[in-house]
Amino acid sequence: MRHITIMDVPFLFTTQKAFSSLLAERIEKKLKTFVITANPEIVMMAKENPAIKENVKRATYVVADGIGIIKASQLLNNPLPERVTGYDTMMQLLPIADKRSYRIFLLGAQQETLEKTENALKNRYSSIQIVGKHHGFFEMTSKHVTDQIMEASPDITFVALGAPRQEEWIARNLSALPNGLYIGVGGSFDVIAGTVKRAPIIFQKLNLEWFYRLVKQPSRWRRMLALPRFAVHILKVKFTRNPL
Ligand code: UDP
Repeated sequence: MRHITIMDVPFLFTTQKAFSSLLAERIEKKLKTFVITANPEIVMMAKENPAIKENVKRATYVVADGIGIIKASQLLNNPLPERVTGYDTMMQLLPIADKRSYRIFLLGAQQETLEKTENALKNRYSSIQIVGKHHGFFEMTSKHVTDQIMEASPDITFVALGAPRQEEWIARNLSALPNGLYIGVGGSFDVIAGTVKRAPIIFQKLNLEWFYRLVKQPSRWRRMLALPRFAVHILKVKFTRNPL
């Protein structure tokens, strides 16, 4: 499969739909799959923190979540087709899971959000089996959660602990976990539960979803400082490779 490497992170060359189909196929084959949907913040974290870089290396697939990654790929003359997000992947896998009566485990978010997410999914997808759930505020080293997943043996585990915590948790526990799909989905449970609204379609179309989230949750500004640093780095790579 083709990859586009951006600052040492190999991004799968794929579209949102093709990626969801690929995952559905791997679930059907009962393979173990670890997905990271990475944005510029993760790429910068991986560059600056060797432990995070190791986690990224363990992923079966890294896909481009964030317009910054797409823009960077264009600047480096290796354009990736489009964003592939945790939320959209989850939304595309759910109807497939419903059709195939898959076993789902929900890991992450506050207890109340988690329960609302479970109810929303049960109401919408009557054949999905929610075989377990756990809120996202537990010790990273706790065996309790992995044991619960082992017992439940889910086809898909949606891990909504936020980045990079969710990636760290999956990477750390992957070998002890049963086969199936493990994908970090960030704040998706908050969106499904209705606690947080996704940006209106117009913001998404204009590639300004990040801006909408920043206005709605101003506390995100500090982490967004990674974006200009990412841009500077990409431009450096571009102009040292292709000097003007
Ligand atoms: N969260 C969690 N455990 C933690 C920290 C966060 O379960 O220790 C949850 C939080 O409740 C929210 C999600 O992780 O549901 C983080 O959402 P965010 O939008 O910040 O995700 P990101 O954009 O960082 O991937």
